[in-house]
Amino acid sequence: LITLVSGFLLKTNYEFGSRILKLTKGLEIRNSKLDEVNKNLTETNADLKNFVYVASHDLKAPLRSIVSFQKLIERKVKKLEDKDLNEFLGFAQNSAIQMENVLDDLLKYSQLSKEIEKKSLEEVDFKTILNQIKVEVQQTSEKPISLKFEGDLDAFRGSNSHVRLVLQNLIGNGIKYNESDVPEVVVLGEQKDDRVVIKVKDNGIGIKDEFLEQIFEPFRRLHSQSQYEGTGFGLAITKRIVDKFDGKIKVDSEIGEGTEFTICFPR
Ligand code: ADP
Repeated sequence: LITLVSGFLLKTNYEFGSRILKLTKGLEIRNSKLDEVNKNLTETNADLKNFVYVASHDLKAPLRSIVSFQKLIERKVKKLEDKDLNEFLGFAQNSAIQMENVLDDLLKYSQLSKEIEKKSLEEVDFKTILNQIKVEVQQTSEKPISLKFEGDLDAFRGSNSHVRLVLQNLIGNGIKYNESDVPEVVVLGEQKDDRVVIKVKDNGIGIKDEFLEQIFEPFRRLHSQSQYEGTGFGLAITKRIVDKFDGKIKVDSEIGEGTEFTICFPR
């Protein structure tokens, strides 16, 4: 009986062992295939980034010459006093300007990650950044603007120029997408143990729930140029900066009441 049982155990052990061996081999093959796919994906990603950079960079030169020639044509057309011709030229000029703005933002967006990786961390001076933005906003707006800063916004190590871009985008949008007699934007800073929280709240037109995630994608706009001008890159740039500093961004909004963006940066 003992011989029989030990024979049986030996056989089962052997079968079990060879099955594990087979499984391990299969896993190894799958892993190496995954490595290959990953490598290809990284290469494709790098190619794509390079393509975006080269395309947007190279398109700028011909566009600049279109704009220059439009200016020359404008001088001649003005003398003709042809209303239609003047209007058509105006449309062409506006389109060229819009294209220039989109290319500039696309270039900025495609270069962001590299730019941030090269930057060494510094103490972010929120007060100076916010005061500079306040001056800019009040100089460029036709309406009176109420821009308030509340709470505590220091103690975060990051990049002044990128935090500035984030705040410029969010404050700028709070004023642009706003039909109130006095557009109001409040920037609120909060210090938590492990993070800095920044809220940017406006009394603007608001955003429908179904668009709250899409607005962070490049080119995504909810309005036409004639309603509100823009390139659809402000929030994509903002999100990429926040992501690169290991932060988080979210948005809450109520149609007709206003919008609140919340950003958290780790300390
Ligand atoms: P842009 O302003 O150039 O269109 P953004 O990426 O900054 O691009 O914003 C994307 C879209 O999100 C805007 O077109 C707008 O419809 C919406 N949006 C952004 N911020 C606000 C806001 N504070 N209030 C209402 N809508 C907003």
